[in-house]
Amino acid sequence: MIFGVPFDGTSSFRKGSSLAPDSVRKAYTNLESFDVYHNIDFSKLKICDLGDLFESEDVKEVTGNVREVVSMIRSDNKIPIMIGGEHSITSGSISCFKDSTMIIIDAHSDFRDEYMGNPLNHACVTRRSLEVLGPGKIFSVGTRSVSREEFESPEFRKVRFFYSDEVREKGIQSVIKEIEQSVGSSVYFSIDMDGIDPAYAPGVGTPEPFGLTDVDVRELVRHFASKIDGFDILEFTPVYDNGNTSMLAAKLIQEFIGSRESSRLRHHKKK
Ligand code: MN
Ligand code: MN
Repeated sequence: MIFGVPFDGTSSFRKGSSLAPDSVRKAYTNLESFDVYHNIDFSKLKICDLGDLFESEDVKEVTGNVREVVSMIRSDNKIPIMIGGEHSITSGSISCFKDSTMIIIDAHSDFRDEYMGNPLNHACVTRRSLEVLGPGKIFSVGTRSVSREEFESPEFRKVRFFYSDEVREKGIQSVIKEIEQSVGSSVYFSIDMDGIDPAYAPGVGTPEPFGLTDVDVRELVRHFASKIDGFDILEFTPVYDNGNTSMLAAKLIQEFIGSRESSRLRHHKKK
């Protein structure tokens, strides 16, 4: 179940992620409906696009609406795929995944207790998620922008931040191995597009050099797809894009759907 949340009300630097859902949809329709890697025909799958959540300027209202929609999709045994919008909206969806492990792709730790007077700001989403999930359940990959206050907070150690440099040194497979050791049966996967290097994803609100590669992120999605029960992709800002970011976002969504479906089919065959 795909739905868009065109909201960028708390964005601090470059606004415009509210235009993202339609831009991703447009890129998506240009993709081949056959996936040669997974041998899957997307046109035969039950993928539904619910359209966009109605727009509001109030972050509290928006996260509340997101929570409601996600919980409805969950109670129907479907998998929500949310297209942002800015990262603040994840605070709404994660509250429906209290027993899950969370994997975040992000350049920023997003660990402020509040930002510009607002605890629901997009710079606070990892902190809010920690309050829902508790320590040892959150893995944030691609970190390279952290404030001293965030870094020195004792809470900071309760999230495993894989710094972008660490990923480059050890390789993405070692990240996967470490997450595997403590991952449960259900994963919520949140992609802030700025976690990926601006060379691959220039169209973001707060670009940070020296990021993850597109392939690293695809590896994570592929590896954990069979366990991912909730997925979002956010902070994409079409006005700064050259076309690559929307395509990458669309591809990552397709990759998730393809990987999830192929693992389901494999499981089915085994039985
Ligand atoms: Mn973020
Ligand atoms: Mn970010």
